[in-house]
Amino acid sequence: MSKRVDIKNQIFNDIYVLEFDKNKNTQASWKCLCMCCNKVILVTYSNLKNGNTKSCASCGQKISNGLEQDILCDIKKGDKIAHIVKKHKVGRSVVYRIKKKFESV
Ligand SMILES: [Zn+2]
Repeated sequence: MSKRVDIKNQIFNDIYVLEFDKNKNTQASWKCLCMCCNKVILVTYSNLKNGNTKSCASCGQKISNGLEQDILCDIKKGDKIAHIVKKHKVGRSVVYRIKKKFESV
């Protein structure tokens, strides 16, 4: 049995490693917490290490500053979340995250 790297309690971008889950094929799978939306997800060690997985799938959509501004603009205009999601092709959590950030200012 190959030695498992212990990454418990470590943080990779937006992911906090909670505990070891199981070996998936030859990969160690870890139970992690997405710190953006507090969702528990399973990620393999190599994906964490390589930076392939930086958050959960819905938060993982890359969004540029320009797009964030556009979304923020729509939020300020009072557009419906569903409308913004469709218009910018982003995940709901992304819009909520920007909305939250905006409201906390
Ligand atoms: Zn997330």
